[in-house]
Amino acid sequence: MRGTIIKGIAGFYEVADANGNIFTCHARGIFRKDGIKPLVGDCVLFSEAETESSEANIEKILPRKNELIRPSVSNIDMAVVVLSVRKPDPQLYLLDKYLVFMEQQNVPAAILFNKTDLDTDDILPEYAAIYENIGYHILFTSAADKRGIEELKNFISGKKVVLAGPSGVGKSSLTNILYPGARMETGEISRKIERGKQTTRHSEFFPVGNDTFLCDTPGFTSVSLIDKEEDLRFFFPEISVREGKCRFTGCRHLSEPGCAVKEAVQNGEIALSRYESYKKMSEEISGKRGHI
Ligand code: GDP
Ligand code: ZN
Repeated sequence: MRGTIIKGIAGFYEVADANGNIFTCHARGIFRKDGIKPLVGDCVLFSEAETESSEANIEKILPRKNELIRPSVSNIDMAVVVLSVRKPDPQLYLLDKYLVFMEQQNVPAAILFNKTDLDTDDILPEYAAIYENIGYHILFTSAADKRGIEELKNFISGKKVVLAGPSGVGKSSLTNILYPGARMETGEISRKIERGKQTTRHSEFFPVGNDTFLCDTPGFTSVSLIDKEEDLRFFFPEISVREGKCRFTGCRHLSEPGCAVKEAVQNGEIALSRYESYKKMSEEISGKRGHI
């Protein structure tokens, strides 16, 4: 049988099939055979228990599409970076950092603006345009009045999705709407209580039906950047498409003359905020402070 590991607890694994039926499995012999430790997100072949006293066993881990380090999960199809339009206000630098983090791990990303019920002064079209222009899909939701939830459901259907983003933007609220069984604690007070427990929580996938999984990621409110500054330019799509167009090969697009990237910023083809983020990240990495 074929399934997806949705949870690991003390040597046991919960495996969900496409219909959301859950099997508790051992992973006897798998490390010896494949040399890898099962991860939440792994697609596996498993055998059902033969007798009532025996256990189901994971027989094979199918090849991974990708593997995230923090949280330690595999096969993520889409990272939805969640921001709120107000409370807290969206921080584009933070958003850019999340996008770079996903690009460097080969995880496709989309952007979701939540709390649209609080939007008062129309900053959204401008922000959305910046990111649509460079190829990111944008979603708008309100967990409070359920606007945009159907679009979100359609967008994630059939995918393994992680909701990333800073705390307080509504990730738990959205998770609760998509998967009422999750009963994630929301809001400040519960968060304070939860903080002490957070180190012991593990990633878990919630099967939301239709071969769709939502990854609950306690450790996903912070991201770390790659430590090689020269790689950064490949993780900004609008910068990497201009690779080779500058006067100097290996141009870092900072202070070099004849730089196609800086030209594109000047004539408005590249958003100034994105270029500022690029410069700031570049400085952070070279100063070895690439952690938020
Ligand atoms: P998380 O830290 O990203 O998981 O955010 P939470 O889901 O805990 O939400 C933080 C706070 O924002 C809570 O008090 C929620 O009730 C509130 N909140 C979440 N989504 C919305 C929304 O769409 N509109 C409004 N007005 N408040 C929201
Ligand atoms: Zn350049």
